[in-house]
Amino acid sequence: MKKSQFLHTTADLNTFGVEHPCTSIHVVEREQTLQDLLHRLEDPLVLGGGSNVLFTGPMERPLLIMANDTIDVVGESSSAVLVRCGAGTHWHKLVLWAVAHDYGGIENLSLIPGKCGAAPMQNIGAYGVELESVFVELEAMRIHDQKRMIFDGDDCQFGYRSSIFKHELADQLVITNVTLRLAKKGHHHLQLEYGAIRSKLEEMGVRNPGIDDVSRAVIDIRRSKLPDPVELPNAGSFFKNPIVTHEKYQKLIDQYPHMPHYPAAAGVKLAAGWLIEQCGWKGKRIGQVGTYPYQALVIVNYGTHDGKEILAFSEKIQQSVAENFGINLEREVNVYGLEDDALGS
Ligand code: FAD
Ligand code: NAP
Repeated sequence: MKKSQFLHTTADLNTFGVEHPCTSIHVVEREQTLQDLLHRLEDPLVLGGGSNVLFTGPMERPLLIMANDTIDVVGESSSAVLVRCGAGTHWHKLVLWAVAHDYGGIENLSLIPGKCGAAPMQNIGAYGVELESVFVELEAMRIHDQKRMIFDGDDCQFGYRSSIFKHELADQLVITNVTLRLAKKGHHHLQLEYGAIRSKLEEMGVRNPGIDDVSRAVIDIRRSKLPDPVELPNAGSFFKNPIVTHEKYQKLIDQYPHMPHYPAAAGVKLAAGWLIEQCGWKGKRIGQVGTYPYQALVIVNYGTHDGKEILAFSEKIQQSVAENFGINLEREVNVYGLEDDALGS
């Protein structure tokens, strides 16, 4: 390993709150400076809000943070608007902007932490809606030769919490802008299929919901169910919900008739949180790391500065679920800082 000067730490750069030394941090306010910077930096790691990463050791790679915070309407028809946002725009700020203008499509994605540039990475999703349903295109700069590139929805190869940027093109691009198509009032079909949204709207006394009602309902549900990283550091769901074959599902449902399950494109989706809970991990704590007492899929940091402790805890959960259910949970959180960044699952 080359000798590095660690002048900074990751402390304020990740919602897990772990603190590892890092060599340099570069904040890009204006897209125009990106080309120069990429020309100089060797193998940078691009970060947004750090809400989906786990650092597990010293970061040799320079950290590059996009901070171009812009929202612009770049096209309009009678039924929709095209909205281009800078990678550095906070996602929830964009959602609030859309709700305030009565533009529909992302209200179910209210209160997801992080920035717009990271949203395509795992095709963010919640309450029955995924980014891909409103996605038009993104602009990116290739790191090795600073070539400007445009990716439409097909190019991104979106899947369940996945895209080409997490796989074939991992670590090769800086996403600089994302353009979405949002529906104008009267042209939007609200997505209320997720049971909790309907019951929350009822509780709120809303009979004919609008975009703002759905957003408020989602915000309310999330605030009551999920830990705020500022109070209890975490990175949301640590693992993806597994998608199993119909044969595997049939075997499991015979054994566990109450097991939650949902149809999925390539089989049956199971709830990772339920599997983890069945293995006795809900609310369990080892040292300074535990699962959230109300949602076992969220790993929370009670005070460690060392991401390796969190990783070790997560591996125990994976082992337990594999032994009990024969299912390998795949990490959703991106792990960095060991010798090999691409740790997979
Ligand atoms: P980061 O964590 O900074 O980065 C994530 C990955 O994207 C890294 O691999 C990074 O290298 C890469 N990246 C970031 N920006 C760029 C860029 N401009 N160009 C190229 N690569 C980039 N996710 C959901 O999908 N649905 C949810 O409902 C949800 N709820 C959450 C709730 C909580 C409490 C928390 C803490 C997290 C939740 N997440 C959820 C996970 C996370 O918020 C999202 O994945 C979010 O999009 C990450 O954004 P970020 O800016 O923090 O990305
Ligand atoms: P939940 O409502 O307790 O449900 C548990 C799981 O069952 C969810 O992960 C969800 O899968 C699935 N599910 C529930 N109802 C469904 C339906 N009608 N159709 C299809 N799948 C259904 O989950 P939660 O933990 O409170 O989270 C609520 C939503 O916010 C979920 O969409 C979740 O993905 C999202 N969220 C994501 C993160 C993250 O970090 N990625 C963190 C917090 C919340 P899906 O996850 O596929 O929707």
